[in-house]
Amino acid sequence: MAVPKQKKSKARTRQRRSEHDKVTAKNVNWCPSCGEEKLPHRVCLHCGTYKGRQVIGVVER
Ligand SMILES: [Zn+2]
Repeated sequence: MAVPKQKKSKARTRQRRSEHDKVTAKNVNWCPSCGEEKLPHRVCLHCGTYKGRQVIGVVER
């Protein structure tokens, strides 16, 4: 809601901003084939699979 600038206290402004400025945990899933952490809807960078298929080659270690 639009409110005249002078009416808002610093505390009010900071309370409002605290909601969208707060740090949230990064969204992570676990790869079903190797169990490593991976980003959702992305190829697993550890084993190179997506939806149970090998889609990219990975360097063997
Ligand atoms: Zn994997």
